[in-house]
Amino acid sequence: MRTKQSIPALKPYQPGKSIDEVKKEHNLSRIVKLASNENVYGPSPHVIEKLGNFAQEIQLYPDGYAEKLRERVSEYLQVDMDQLIFGAGSDEIVQMICRTYLEAGTNTVMAHPTFPQYKHHATVEGAEVREVPVKDGHHQLEKMLQYIDENTRVVWLCTPNNPTGSYINEQELNHFVQECPKHVLIVIDEAYYEFVMSGDYPETIPYLKDHENMIILRTFSKAYGLAGYRIGYGVGSTDIIRYLNTIRGPFNVSSIGQYAALVALEDQDYIEQIRQLNAKTRKQVERFCKENDLAYDQSETNFLLIHLPKSGLEVSEQLLSNGFIVRPGELLGVEQSMRVTIGKEEDMKEFTSVLQNCLQN
Ligand SMILES: *Cc1c(COP(=O)(O)O)cnc(C)c1O
Repeated sequence: MRTKQSIPALKPYQPGKSIDEVKKEHNLSRIVKLASNENVYGPSPHVIEKLGNFAQEIQLYPDGYAEKLRERVSEYLQVDMDQLIFGAGSDEIVQMICRTYLEAGTNTVMAHPTFPQYKHHATVEGAEVREVPVKDGHHQLEKMLQYIDENTRVVWLCTPNNPTGSYINEQELNHFVQECPKHVLIVIDEAYYEFVMSGDYPETIPYLKDHENMIILRTFSKAYGLAGYRIGYGVGSTDIIRYLNTIRGPFNVSSIGQYAALVALEDQDYIEQIRQLNAKTRKQVERFCKENDLAYDQSETNFLLIHLPKSGLEVSEQLLSNGFIVRPGELLGVEQSMRVTIGKEEDMKEFTSVLQNCLQN
């Protein structure tokens, strides 16, 4: 049987090793997973408390329209309800965008390295992928504009960028959106929005008023701590949302995901705590890097891309045998580096001392 032309050259997503696998392989009792930028503190305690009531009605399909959550998010962001689309993680919305806008003969522009799912789904659809290398972890927006032509359908701005952690500031974004041709959909992926502290990180929702060719992606997987329930959303013009809705699966977001997101969104005090804790611990890890002559990309997120004097694959193996799971940069397109989620303070103390040992051996 023959697949679509694009499929045979692609590989399934390779997740990092699971906690159980690592425990078994290395005969360890405790593992700290710092590989996927999940919230190491978990979700708001209110979520845990309220989910206990959720066992009713699970025989029913979820509300495909996600009405309650939609109402709440539209109030929260001050946008119309029909400017929102929900997905099984923002991953699913990336997929919907590619399915809706890309095909053979079109192209799409993105940074490199950036979130790999953009390229993956664009390739599935047969589109040409144009990658512009980051500079010191930053999107090179001028170059990205130069790569855009009449066949470009989608440009991806990941801000803060995964895996480098750097963001696009307000001035840079203003310039980009003014210069970007109107036939190109600008996707702004803000998966780490809640972690950013800098004053010149733009609030992008108000841009939607003047820019019909823009969609902003957010997720409940990172700061909100709900990665396991798979829920994220897109905010854009009603036209974009209507098109995406035509290809959305009828019941794509689970009932429990919708419910957990609703509860989590209410507890903004918790998100603020997470933001502060994360920034404080990230600074400690940054200080360690400086003291040990390890370069890192400037990050406003809950992870850090650390450059290493040797292979990231090798260092990750060493860390693994000490109970720490990280993501080697080689798997993300950056040689001799690793991406480390900022864990809890005590765990990061232990992590840095283990890393110091790994680098001496
Ligand atoms: C984690 C992540 C996502 C997707 O997360 P979901 O769990 O699918 O919502 C999207 N973009 C970036 C840059 C991410 O790091």
